[in-house]
Amino acid sequence: MPNQQKLYDCAIVGGGLAGLCLAIQLAKLNHSVVLFEKNEYPFHKVCGEYISNESYNFLENLGLPLSQLNLPNIHQLGISSTKGFMLEANLKLGAFGISRYTLDYKLSLIAKQNGINIIENCKVNGIKIINDVNEINTTNGVYTSKIVCGSYGRHAPLFIDKNSKLAQLPNYIGVKYHIKTTFNANRIELHNFKNGYCGISKINNDTYCLCYLTTSKNLKDNGNDIKKMEETILFQNPYLKKYFTESEFLFDKPLTVSKITFNKKQTYSNGIFLLGDAAGAIVPLCGNGMSMGMRASKLLANLLHNYYNSSISKNELINSYATVWNQKFSSRIKRGYYIQQLLGKNNLTHFILKCLNKTPKLLQKIIAQTHGQAF
Ligand SMILES: Cc1cc2nc3c(=O)[nH]c(=O)nc-3n(C[C@H](O)[C@H](O)[C@H](O)COP(=O)(O)OP(=O)(O)OC[C@H]3O[C@@H](n4cnc5c(N)ncnc54)[C@H](O)[C@@H]3O)c2cc1C
Repeated sequence: MPNQQKLYDCAIVGGGLAGLCLAIQLAKLNHSVVLFEKNEYPFHKVCGEYISNESYNFLENLGLPLSQLNLPNIHQLGISSTKGFMLEANLKLGAFGISRYTLDYKLSLIAKQNGINIIENCKVNGIKIINDVNEINTTNGVYTSKIVCGSYGRHAPLFIDKNSKLAQLPNYIGVKYHIKTTFNANRIELHNFKNGYCGISKINNDTYCLCYLTTSKNLKDNGNDIKKMEETILFQNPYLKKYFTESEFLFDKPLTVSKITFNKKQTYSNGIFLLGDAAGAIVPLCGNGMSMGMRASKLLANLLHNYYNSSISKNELINSYATVWNQKFSSRIKRGYYIQQLLGKNNLTHFILKCLNKTPKLLQKIIAQTHGQAF
């Protein structure tokens, strides 16, 4: 039996960007929300912390005063090959940089101010649907809601049916540091190395985010020793060697995440509406996983509002969300995956960067494909 009496309109599993943004929008539309987050804010996350400007107005409208935070305005891109060639491009839409530590924390405060019941240090372990009411089993007791949304990120909890195709995809690891270094605040650089790439760009507090993605195999081949892998593989790119050896590293040890796969998953599973990385993750190179999660939260919040007001049925809600989600993201995720295949291969990547250097229109077209429109 539930030990919490209230029946919430919506229960949200996972308080990253997608979950927090959904919660705030629903609360602003006068719907009651409980959100479960297994960690305690503020906390760090493996992420490049480069946010496409497509989300700038959206975040400001949620109540986050980005313009007052003195954040870097990023509008130049450099992509290097291991041979030391650097392709240069302007980023028309551009981006800003902010740490997830700060961003998620600030959003959690806005959510609380809007009356959302955020339960931290609380893991969701299972969900049962009984007479159209969801019973959410958590480490903090049982809660009930009319709708459950899953924004638990790229690793599905055990109680979610996993897509069997996932096991066949290559497996990646992500590694992140915050550093102090000498670097242009308006620039992001992506540095290729064998089977991976590393981004560097400025965030808040005069700090830079240095974050890379590589295959689990690269780490395994280096005895699961991150430092050894960096010295033997990443340092072959002269830019990376410079940043790694001439910067001040602010964490005691790197922040890591493993078993990353990139693909489209589902928008509705086991009675749960999915959003953010839980519904499908884009490769970091194609940026903007954060913006995709936020955009999905806006699509879902509007449809849920229609459902709560009885303007649409549950089936219409399920189908409409799948349709708009696929329209906005499906091909973007696939495109990102294919572009990623061209990078992290020393000679081929070098050749592609040299070719793109001679075809600036094509380069701009590819960049435009990785950034969405403002929403
Ligand atoms: C190496 C790397 C670099 C990246 N760089 C960028 C970048 O520069 N720009 C960009 O836009 N995107 C980037 N991304 C993608 C971006 O990080 C994700 O798309 C984004 O974090 C997704 O947000 P989310 O809210 O869906 O999930 P998350 O931010 O992962 O949040 C999920 C939350 O759910 C919680 N949770 C999970 N399970 C449970 C449970 N059972 N109970 C309770 N809570 C739970 C977790 O603790 C977590 O806080 C990068 C990704 C990687 C791997």
